[in-house]
Amino acid sequence: MGRRNMMRMWSRAIIGVAIMVASTAPNISAQDTNPADGEGLVVDYPVFNPVEPPSGYLAALEAGTRTPDGRPGADYWQQWVDYDIDVKIEPETALVTASEKITIRNDTPHERPVIVLHLYQNVFAEGAPRGRGTTITGGMTLSRVAVGGMDLDELPPRRFFGQQPRGPQEPGFRVNQTLATVSLPEPLAPGGVVEIEVDWSFEVSGSGGFRMGHLNNEIFQLAQWYPQVAAFDDVFGQDQSPYLGSGEFYTDYGNFTVDVTVPEGWLVVGTGMLTNAEEVLHPEAARTLASAPALDTVVKVVSVEDREAGRATLSSDDGWHTWTLQAEMVRDFAIAAGGTYVWHVTGAETGHEQGRALIQNVFDPRMDHWAPATEYAQHAIEFFSDYILPYPYPQATAAMGPPEVSGMEYPMITFITHQAEGRGLNGVVTHELSHFWMPMIVGTKEMAYAWMDEGLTVFNTSLSMADYYGTPVSRPGDDRGYQMVVQMEMQEPIMGHADHAEHMFGQNVSAYGKPGMLLHTLRHMIGEEKFDAFYKDYAATWAFKHPMPWDFFAMFSEAAGTDMDWFWQPWFYGEATLDQAVDEVVPGTGSVDITVSNLSSGVMPVEMTLEYADGSTETVVWPASVWAGTRTAKGSVPTSGDLSKVTIDAGGIYPDIDRSNNEWEAVEG
Ligand SMILES: [Zn+2]
Repeated sequence: MGRRNMMRMWSRAIIGVAIMVASTAPNISAQDTNPADGEGLVVDYPVFNPVEPPSGYLAALEAGTRTPDGRPGADYWQQWVDYDIDVKIEPETALVTASEKITIRNDTPHERPVIVLHLYQNVFAEGAPRGRGTTITGGMTLSRVAVGGMDLDELPPRRFFGQQPRGPQEPGFRVNQTLATVSLPEPLAPGGVVEIEVDWSFEVSGSGGFRMGHLNNEIFQLAQWYPQVAAFDDVFGQDQSPYLGSGEFYTDYGNFTVDVTVPEGWLVVGTGMLTNAEEVLHPEAARTLASAPALDTVVKVVSVEDREAGRATLSSDDGWHTWTLQAEMVRDFAIAAGGTYVWHVTGAETGHEQGRALIQNVFDPRMDHWAPATEYAQHAIEFFSDYILPYPYPQATAAMGPPEVSGMEYPMITFITHQAEGRGLNGVVTHELSHFWMPMIVGTKEMAYAWMDEGLTVFNTSLSMADYYGTPVSRPGDDRGYQMVVQMEMQEPIMGHADHAEHMFGQNVSAYGKPGMLLHTLRHMIGEEKFDAFYKDYAATWAFKHPMPWDFFAMFSEAAGTDMDWFWQPWFYGEATLDQAVDEVVPGTGSVDITVSNLSSGVMPVEMTLEYADGSTETVVWPASVWAGTRTAKGSVPTSGDLSKVTIDAGGIYPDIDRSNNEWEAVEG
């Protein structure tokens, strides 16, 4: 029996006693807690319906690759994958031709006869299964696949999905929609290394694509662009999730060297650092770039004037330049290249041992509403370095792109539509840069557990935006998307899969707003200081690794000091809602009898603000356990004056779906 199960039994025993006490003593002794003091609340509640992790997770606990307290075990392992890629972008035809050498180090205990590759570009192929409409480009053409220098034959696809063939395989590769399997001539032994080479080409989708594309053949944003090794982990083994357009990504870590060939005069940024600035940039521009990390002010590597004077890049004999970018410990690689880009830079404090980071912003100067993105990015990197984890990468880039990219994150770089401006642009930049932590540093399985990157990012962004503008943090109770989804009866479970939702709107809210909101509620219940310490611990513990939801649940149950399955189960797996209502308030001498109803299925503590005739206020908190076995809670609360008003959740901390029944007011005269 794991420690987690023992804790569960222990807390059930304690709670059994609590219920007995409650049933024999109907009056609740009011617990005075000031919610602003950061100490947290009593959050015990009976676990009627415990979270049951999948068998793969239980097996990982058994194998010691994870521990019951939600941390990597002594035997934790991960696959390591390096890429060496040459890519040429031809703007006029939007054609990308490329070749790569993938080096897989099998740091897993499993023999690997087959390697699974993602061919994301095939989501744009005729007839490809997709979660939403898009332009058709023909998808990705593989012209060569080789293992250890030996060319492999293409074999016919086996089945629609379910790529992993069973039994001994003849060497070769099979393409099946957005996945390919490479059957190795020799199985890859644990601790072994294999090199796979692939040559490919595709046409970059123009209007109507998603997460990538080009703007008028002048700006290209390449993502989901190279054959990429699918993740292989200790919980689920081989990932073979097809790319359908809605769900995102799940990849292992490695190092990248990418040579990007573009026309002279074009600028290139991407995941990683430019390592041959002196070969491609005008000397003045190269000097400015090198000086930027130390700066707090924004300077221009390439300005409009530089561009007009032909000083963006060096001249080239054949009209092309090859830009070399290198990145270490990243789970993906994206590129932005622009023939109209200007390039603004500054530096940011990270607190990381590597020192300050370079902040980059590339945009089309005809859309100069984009210029403030440099400062927005600087603030986001500094805020999250402080709140979550010191930023471990050498640079962070915001790159303006076509509407199709909306706002999309990759390690060290984000693509953001040119349509964003002002506070909206700040919001997107901050959101996308928050993703540099979740899921780029903390490498979650996005398509299956979108809340672990989007929900945490919504939460992070609300804190950073409040810090930037000096305004209060947005209140969970004001989350309009969540309220709408509940009214429209379109809720989807937070733990649902991004590609399996009945209601896209509900799925979106369950990935973003609802978990973002619930994290504020959780932070309040646990206490800000304690929550923040565990949040930092979670990020540091799982940096460059693959946490699963049950790891998160265990760590934050530990933070709460009790089994929080009463919270995870209805709110993350279920579709619970909260509606607390003041039923009756009977003021007496020196005390008041208050009756509160729970009109919906969700359970939360009750926080009431008592307002007195002289304007003073007091907060009274009843723990969630007041709802054990009952829908009505009644308590006698000491008062310190002439009571004029009682409000449930005046701070908007809880996701109450009907606030019209949250108040009681004394009748005048
Ligand atoms: Zn996001």
